[in-house]
Amino acid sequence: MSTPFENAIKQLSTAAEVIDLKPEVIELLKTPDRILRVKVPVKMDDGTLKIFEGYRVQYNNWAGPYKGGLRYFPTVDLDEVKALAFWMTIKTAVVGIPMGGGKGGVTLNPKELSSGELERLTREFGKLLAPNIGPKIDVPAPDVYTNSEIMNWVKESFIDYRKNLAKECGCELSEQNQKMLQGVITGKSVEQGGSLGRDRATAMGGFYILQKLVEMKEINEKPSIAIQGFGNAGSVMADLCGAEGYKVVAISDSKGGVYNSEGLDLEKAKEHKKSTGQLVGLEGSKEISNEELLELSVDVLIPAALENVITKDNAENIKARFIIELANGPVTPEADEILAKNAIKSVPDVLANSGGVTVSYFEWQQNLEDNYWTEEEVFNKLKAIMVPAFEQIWQLHKDKNISLRTAAFAKALERLQNLCYTV
Ligand code: NAD
Repeated sequence: MSTPFENAIKQLSTAAEVIDLKPEVIELLKTPDRILRVKVPVKMDDGTLKIFEGYRVQYNNWAGPYKGGLRYFPTVDLDEVKALAFWMTIKTAVVGIPMGGGKGGVTLNPKELSSGELERLTREFGKLLAPNIGPKIDVPAPDVYTNSEIMNWVKESFIDYRKNLAKECGCELSEQNQKMLQGVITGKSVEQGGSLGRDRATAMGGFYILQKLVEMKEINEKPSIAIQGFGNAGSVMADLCGAEGYKVVAISDSKGGVYNSEGLDLEKAKEHKKSTGQLVGLEGSKEISNEELLELSVDVLIPAALENVITKDNAENIKARFIIELANGPVTPEADEILAKNAIKSVPDVLANSGGVTVSYFEWQQNLEDNYWTEEEVFNKLKAIMVPAFEQIWQLHKDKNISLRTAAFAKALERLQNLCYTV
């Protein structure tokens, strides 16, 4: 199987054929601007020292500061981080916000660390990132298995670093400076400068697209939905679908999935997950594997966990009419071809989950201007970006008879080419 970065570059080449992209621009976009690889030493609770590997890839900043999440996961490696950073470059261009693309992460399973160990690791990682990030340079955010608490710690490491720099120059950071510097990271808790709505933004963006597809009668009024992954993105999406009267028939987490053809009781699912740490065993549901969930006969399949879950090995068995990719990179290029042959439309990650980065951009803007918006304002502004972006991509896909992914990439690449100052 190709690696995530190889897949990303294949997607770039496919889209480049659709628009008139200069060869120099393609060449520039094939590699990241800068790669930071750090050794993160952590004193464990038992007194031993453990060394973790951390990354930050700054892929492209033609549109503005590098922007993208920090992922804590056992499979994190440079190839994966590069792919994710590339997709962030495309994503910010798809929604047309003034930010570029980056990504980072640490190779570990945070569930195996105590909260003290996780905090020490994050503060150390933050210290190592600090000289290379900043509100106008590179603005990280949460991703898989990282959250607002982790973002707060990175922010504190960064502000400490800047305070020390100021001290070395014989000056002090003003309160106003410190407030502005909070924009170094997004996805912070609201009390620490976060934006209202950020926790629901990724799912909300995908949900606006789902609603639009229903409105366009591409999907029936009460679609059946299967969601893989029940974290930040997947669980909020499940809630939004449930509240709209859509039938969420299957959900899953890393330990497996649960299914009920009549629709699951989502409140009970959340309580069950909270009390047992898993979804499996939910009353009134049948246990299914993550693989079975993907192959269910539903109107809409929503991968909201990891990349490369729909591949050439299972694409032929996918029965959903639409896929909404809340996860990053869930469909491989080989699978894309099979899905297209079977008339299954996949709303690509770079569009479907761009609500997260869009509200991250709003958070950054609110920090820089020291002016905070209501949740209603945040979601109105989000909808005003997501729906037109979707409509333009849908139209391009129809006009040129290309996949939604190629249309999204083409739109993004056109914007990037216009911003490119090198050629
Ligand atoms: P999260 O850590 O909150 O949740 C991840 C979920 O995936 C958990 O429920 C976990 O149990 C499940 N999972 C892990 N391994 C699995 C496996 N092998 N099979 C099935 N499920 C598995 O992460 P998240 O923030 O919800 O991110 C999920 C996806 O959405 C990722 O691909 C991420 O890059 C993407 N995404 C998230 C955001 C955001 O704002 N959170 C933004 C854009 C994209």
